[in-house]
Amino acid sequence: MKTGKNYKFWFCTGSQDLYGDECLKKVAEHSRIIVEKLNESGVLPFEVVWKPTLITNEVIRRTFNEANQDEECAGVITWMHTFSPAKSWILGLQEYRKPLCHLHTQFNEEIPYDNIDMDFMNENQSAHGDREYGHIVTRMGIERKVIVGHWSDPEVQKKLASWMRTAIGIMESSHIRVARVADNMRNVAVTEGDKVEAQIKFGWEIDAYPVNEIAEYVEQVSKGEIDALVEEYYDKYDILLEGRDPKEFREHVAVQAGIEIGFERFLEEKNYQAIVTHFGDLGSLKQLPGLAIQRLMEKGYGFGAEGDWKTAAMVRLMKIMAEGTPNAKGTSFFEDYTYNLVKGKEGILQAHMLEVCPTVADGPISIKVCPLSMGDREDPARLVYTCKEGPAVAVSLVDLGNRFRLIINDVECKKVEKPMPKLPVATAFWTPMPNLQTGAEAWILAGGAHHTAFSYDLTAEQMGDWAAAMGIEAVYIDKDTNIRSFKNELRWNSIYYR
Ligand code: MN
Repeated sequence: MKTGKNYKFWFCTGSQDLYGDECLKKVAEHSRIIVEKLNESGVLPFEVVWKPTLITNEVIRRTFNEANQDEECAGVITWMHTFSPAKSWILGLQEYRKPLCHLHTQFNEEIPYDNIDMDFMNENQSAHGDREYGHIVTRMGIERKVIVGHWSDPEVQKKLASWMRTAIGIMESSHIRVARVADNMRNVAVTEGDKVEAQIKFGWEIDAYPVNEIAEYVEQVSKGEIDALVEEYYDKYDILLEGRDPKEFREHVAVQAGIEIGFERFLEEKNYQAIVTHFGDLGSLKQLPGLAIQRLMEKGYGFGAEGDWKTAAMVRLMKIMAEGTPNAKGTSFFEDYTYNLVKGKEGILQAHMLEVCPTVADGPISIKVCPLSMGDREDPARLVYTCKEGPAVAVSLVDLGNRFRLIINDVECKKVEKPMPKLPVATAFWTPMPNLQTGAEAWILAGGAHHTAFSYDLTAEQMGDWAAAMGIEAVYIDKDTNIRSFKNELRWNSIYYR
């Protein structure tokens, strides 16, 4: 799960030498205090690094290029304490290639009514300088996040923290490699797509392997390793025999342990962070990877079923973005299965044949062994549970033939009214915003898939900002969605994103 990098964000303050050394000394002092306090706040998931005040074209250009080269720098936060003529920023911005945030703040929170004079005005004019800077960033068409407010405000700090996670998603997207086990499910449209374009846009490397090449890794796992992992499963999860013979049950579970170990070895050795499988193409594997895939997702691997590499990469991306969230509630692959259409209780029951990530589970997790109606293999072991309540985001990345679109839906997860004792899979139940009727209508009009990448720990804003940084269309389906405007948005976007 670790990205292997100790990411940091640079804090770059803009000014100029027109106001004299005394003023510049204060600018530097103020920005140092802001950086110190931001780091002390405990709100930010990554460290902020103070940089000397940027006052000339030469220094600005050099600093941005250093930021490009520093592997640990995940983005630059800019702030114009005073006025900084924006032509000085053109070359630096032109050469800069990482996430950019414009923190539109000022050192003092309140106007010092009793003492304010023109010296104070000259020294503290972010309202002025940040507009000049913002103008050039807009004129140059550079994607950036603008955050407005006093730097000590917890709301502002939370926005900065949220943007930092988006920035990590932007930085890490190009380190996602997806291993495709066999091909996509035959005849399915929405899981297909242009893998070359995905690499150009998102930096994803997506490679296919014959299923038996990965199955060999499974076959080479020793009995001792399998037994140890099965022990771990039996310690950690409830065992629901449901009338099956305990020995036979354990043998089915052991098959998944072998798959977990073998698959992980394959992925680690070949440096993949996401994987897709297909129930119709299992080669010498004895079971559809179920419990094994659930455990790999829990460890941070992305997953998409039936060859869905776009969703697998999105699940991995979202797991990276959400990594280390305090009180994280989880991130998973899901599939829209069946509706409750009773008035006032509308929602979509989410599951998959087997493969839902246990990070989203609420309460105890059980192992079941049940037949699988699809495919032609023995009954696979799987983890079964229900999911947490609360707001979450579900996204679908689709290939429209000439471009990608990210569909982002705010959803509200709920408990189902009654237990579903005969359903042998992990489930969630959610109502899409603004309600099932409009949410599902908008999703379908946008061409959204039946597979989603889902997280309780990320927001629509973060996903949309990531899409913007990738240069692709994003559409939001949320409390403000109405169909007439949404259809117009799709029409207008089709002209903009050619
Ligand atoms: Mn599916």
